[in-house]
Amino acid sequence: MITEKNTELNGLTLNGFSKEDIGDDHLFTSLDTPMKANAFGMSNDEKKKRISILFSEIMDVIGLDLTDDSLQGTPDRVAKMYVEEIFSGLDPKNKPKVALFDNKYQYNQVLVEKNITFYSNCEHHFVPIIGKAHIAYKSSGKVIGLSKLNRIVQYFAKRPQVQERLTNQIANELKTVLQTEDVAVIIDAKHLCVSSRGIQDDTSTTVTTYYGGEFNNPSKILELQNYINN
Ligand SMILES: [Zn+2]
Repeated sequence: MITEKNTELNGLTLNGFSKEDIGDDHLFTSLDTPMKANAFGMSNDEKKKRISILFSEIMDVIGLDLTDDSLQGTPDRVAKMYVEEIFSGLDPKNKPKVALFDNKYQYNQVLVEKNITFYSNCEHHFVPIIGKAHIAYKSSGKVIGLSKLNRIVQYFAKRPQVQERLTNQIANELKTVLQTEDVAVIIDAKHLCVSSRGIQDDTSTTVTTYYGGEFNNPSKILELQNYINN
């Protein structure tokens, strides 16, 4: 479980680690995605143009022949994919707008949305993280459309990420939009930087959790695990 306290601890334990250690061990430095101050000073079209130029340089440096028909369009395709798809969640303009509804049926029990598939990318290696998010909340008197839970997950997944931060960002957004502390987020994900390279472990997955408010007690946690595993 990642709590504010753990984060502080994390900050301290990062001292003395090299940049390589941080990346290889998938440590992270902040709960917010580290963004530069003028991150959106450039238009999306400009961004795509720049990324395309820079990516063709990477392809050239590793020795690929960019005049080949198969490779020619790759820099543009990668640029478009970065800006419009897999990193589109960096741009606050793309944040899902969530309308709250009154909980007319007075259903004040737990709602669990499980097995929300997402694709993200590890910020240390820029290779995919593929996982499932399970979300639970207890209505404070307001509810949101089920598809919005999914959209919130996708928005924060479409960034260079670390799984702990993704978990917390989703939880914080849910707490804000649902106006309650009673939210839980459980993420089970496979990191391709662990399976396709490095240690090449193809079977392990990583589980991270956030249990807020009423969910932060052993019997509730057990109850949630039952819903998710069945
Ligand atoms: Zn990685």
